[in-house]
Amino acid sequence: MVANRLRRRLDAEQAEIHVVDRDDRHVYQPGLLFVPFGLADVDEIVRPRRRQLHRGITFHENEVDSVDLDRDEVRLDDGAVLSYDALIVATGARLQPEETEGLTDAGWNRRAFTFYTPEGADLLREVLRDFDGGRLVVNLIDMPIKCPVAPLEFAFLADWYLRERGVRGRTELVYATPLDAAFTKPVASEHLAALLVEKDIELVTEFNAGEVDGANGVVASYDGRELAFDLLVTVPLHGGAAFLDRSPGLGDALGFVPTDRRTLQTSARPNVFALGDATDLPTSKAGSVTHFEAEVLVANVLSHLAGAELTPGYDGHANCFIETGFHKALLIDFNYDTEPLPGHFPTVFGLPLLRESRVNHLGKLAFQWLYWHALLPGRALPGVGPEMPRHGKRMPATHA
Ligand SMILES: Cc1cc2nc3c(=O)[nH]c(=O)nc-3n(C[C@H](O)[C@H](O)[C@H](O)COP(=O)(O)OP(=O)(O)OC[C@H]3O[C@@H](n4cnc5c(N)ncnc54)[C@H](O)[C@@H]3O)c2cc1C
Repeated sequence: MVANRLRRRLDAEQAEIHVVDRDDRHVYQPGLLFVPFGLADVDEIVRPRRRQLHRGITFHENEVDSVDLDRDEVRLDDGAVLSYDALIVATGARLQPEETEGLTDAGWNRRAFTFYTPEGADLLREVLRDFDGGRLVVNLIDMPIKCPVAPLEFAFLADWYLRERGVRGRTELVYATPLDAAFTKPVASEHLAALLVEKDIELVTEFNAGEVDGANGVVASYDGRELAFDLLVTVPLHGGAAFLDRSPGLGDALGFVPTDRRTLQTSARPNVFALGDATDLPTSKAGSVTHFEAEVLVANVLSHLAGAELTPGYDGHANCFIETGFHKALLIDFNYDTEPLPGHFPTVFGLPLLRESRVNHLGKLAFQWLYWHALLPGRALPGVGPEMPRHGKRMPATHA
């Protein structure tokens, strides 16, 4: 999206644009949620990266080895060196299941699975198809994770799917989270906790999983509590991309990139910008965030190249459909300062916020089309800009 938007604004004389990625498989990651329930196929949610890039953008299918900030150079695995006037880091978050003791031992991909990869989502589909009841534990190991609502959505969809299959009556569903509530934000948490109760899903809070015994089906927390499972669906620990460890001055201790929360310029150098899951920003690691950030970042990269002032234009805006099963979904919309509130999005006549509805579910399904045909090519979505809309929201008095 960033490369395509920059290409539209800069002609070939003004800039060369290079995109580096280790593979040519762009995954529409929100689609991974649907794969285990037979509602999407991996083939449908993966497309070649090259095809998403406008003419005049050079794609390098290669691993980034490191960035040399002093020399303004990106080193690739094959020894090639790309020098830059401006660098945009968009290397996402890396799953680290091996960081949790026992998780990748005997039970991994037999009794303990993740739907956060295409391979894991595909395996879970087979397992859920044959699941004949027992204890299903959904657990996220620790924050931050991509799409913090995705494990909750998984639990809601599992409830629906197992009811459809007639095995819900003999299934205990447990949602175990390191948070002290169902979700990070208080108002949304209340709504989501009520849905867990309604769907008979047990909520276990402040559960910091430290060890998984896949062979015996037990996940243990650091404070000594144990949860037995027949099937564990886990969201592994997340860290930043590995090349950041080899790039002095670019990443923090967790491998995320310290980034200005308004301008998206990194603290590493004025000519280095970052967006998406790669940053250390206090908002969700979500595609919607990446999309809103991209609009602000592109303007600021252009300002930087022109020697003009940057605009502090990103307000932390995030927006997320939450599948709740039975063809319904909630929608939440928030930013750094405003938590998800009831009302409508983007105006009073829009989609209902924090309320289950069929139209939100249809919105979530339709979004994939917009992703491939509007967002990635760099087109604007009418009525949806980077700034969080306030018109339709029931704002507390202090925000009026
Ligand atoms: C199951 C699931 C459900 C989700 N649902 C939603 C949702 O409903 N709504 C929503 O808004 N978001 C959702 N997300 C989150 C969303 O997909 C991510 O936030 C978004 O993709 C982040 O984009 P990004 O460009 O920052 O990172 P990514 O899309 O992860 O891209 C990072 C890229 O960097 C490349 N890379 C990393 N290191 C290197 C290297 N050393 N060399 C070369 N290439 C490298 C990777 O190959 C990758 O292509 C979901 C995510 C998951 C996993």
